[in-house]
Amino acid sequence: MKSVVISSGHGKYVSGARGYIDEVTEARNVVVRVATYLKQLDVETYEFHDNTSKSQNENLKTIVKYHNSKQRDLDVSVHFNSGNTEEGGVEVYYYDDSSLAAKVSKAIGDATGMKNRGAKQNKELYVLKNTSKPAILIEVCFVNVKSNTDAYGKHFDAVCKTIAETLANKKLANSSANQPTNNKRYRLYTGTFATEASAKAFKEKVEKTFDVTLQMREE
Ligand SMILES: [Zn+2]
Repeated sequence: MKSVVISSGHGKYVSGARGYIDEVTEARNVVVRVATYLKQLDVETYEFHDNTSKSQNENLKTIVKYHNSKQRDLDVSVHFNSGNTEEGGVEVYYYDDSSLAAKVSKAIGDATGMKNRGAKQNKELYVLKNTSKPAILIEVCFVNVKSNTDAYGKHFDAVCKTIAETLANKKLANSSANQPTNNKRYRLYTGTFATEASAKAFKEKVEKTFDVTLQMREE
């Protein structure tokens, strides 16, 4: 697999499932992060989010049209599930590539500890049926199952990473260094000063030079 089109389910004006999390928002978050990793894995990646459609029908057609407009080996659609289940879990629909769907489903299950509901064939889902390349539709987890949304939130980066690695069929080099650092914060200490006046003078100079606000604390 050298190239892929990956899109988020539903659209800006066409809402998806809502529960503890919002399907459209999270599908977009996943697609953005997975696309970042796919590019790091040297996969030619086209990413799509529908920001214009006003109806479900228009939405499906818009998404499929984008997929079919690109040269690619694989089509991936990212969704979140909703339904009457206590344990929920991950499942991946496919048109004819059962092996890839099974691998992606298992990988997400392993990354989150959620139940792996596995690969499911579906020839009726619009995106699977109308895209012209092998296609899978990932239902990451159930938006209405708290244990699922907790696990997804906690393991968001691992979920995205494992989807990308499974699709590309290779591992990211130096995984930890590639991790976006949005969960980390770095505190910078500037030093200690003998007098309050000299500390204040330094503080003002740095704030003015770099347009930042420093915090000062007595030691
Ligand atoms: Zn959906």
